[in-house]
Amino acid sequence: MKIISTPKELKEYLNQTQQTIGFVPTMGALHEGHISLIKKARKENEIVVVSIFLNPTQFLKGEDLEKYPKKDEADKQICKLSGVDVLFFPHAQDIYSEDEVSLLAPKVRGFVLEGRSRPSHFNGVLTVVMKLLNIVNPTNAYFGRKDAQQLYLISLMVEQMFMSVNIVAVETARESDGLAMSSRNIYLTKEERKEALKISASLYQAGKMISQKVLDSKIIISKMREILEPLEISYVEILNRDFTQARHVEIGNTVILVEAKVGTTRLLDNIWL
Ligand code: AMP
Repeated sequence: MKIISTPKELKEYLNQTQQTIGFVPTMGALHEGHISLIKKARKENEIVVVSIFLNPTQFLKGEDLEKYPKKDEADKQICKLSGVDVLFFPHAQDIYSEDEVSLLAPKVRGFVLEGRSRPSHFNGVLTVVMKLLNIVNPTNAYFGRKDAQQLYLISLMVEQMFMSVNIVAVETARESDGLAMSSRNIYLTKEERKEALKISASLYQAGKMISQKVLDSKIIISKMREILEPLEISYVEILNRDFTQARHVEIGNTVILVEAKVGTTRLLDNIWL
């Protein structure tokens, strides 16, 4: 596995190849969720590139950038063992400069849900993903469904900016008890870890109600909120796949999203129906 840290060197290296490139962007502290993206990329492409970059522009003032988990050596081993060909490990100064051109998230869909509690978060996400996609120029780029709004906005950016990369959505990897895997789970105490299960349990309940033909969003959300008690809920929403409000669940076109705080840790989860 080659480790490259500058955009220039990576571009030169990848420009020589005619092979298909699968790209998995991450912020490190890799877990089984990330590995599932890498495995899919490995299966579907000749070359696999993973980036590890803790992107400062997607963190708001006072957020957890400084204490975000870092496991550089373990991450390198995981990449090597997962069959990654190139690990891109840039420094912030190689990605950003002073007085930059800016890319803004859409005014409506970029500022609801997570974008409402974290205004400007998706400006940073889209900017870094655009930069990384331009550096790697992949055939396919892999993103987790766990970050549903991020996945949606990246797909929208690719479509609206007429980019040619194919965005591949990957299912959420979960612990055996249902908790969605996340780099932030290590912040949870034992007690909080138990409380956090209410998030996946609420989504499981929604799935169960829908299988029993309860399709009214209000009824489902109210039951989910009951299960989530006493967690601090940022949102529970039932949306169409284009991220507009859905008054009723429509199988094949619905996503149900939850964000809740457990202790001081914000956790996201969702199901696609
Ligand atoms: P992050 O390092 O948190 O920026 O995540 C990098 C990529 O991994 C993003 O596309 C995430 O959606 C994806 N990811 C994170 N957790 C999971 C999970 N539990 N299952 C599947 N993909 C995930």
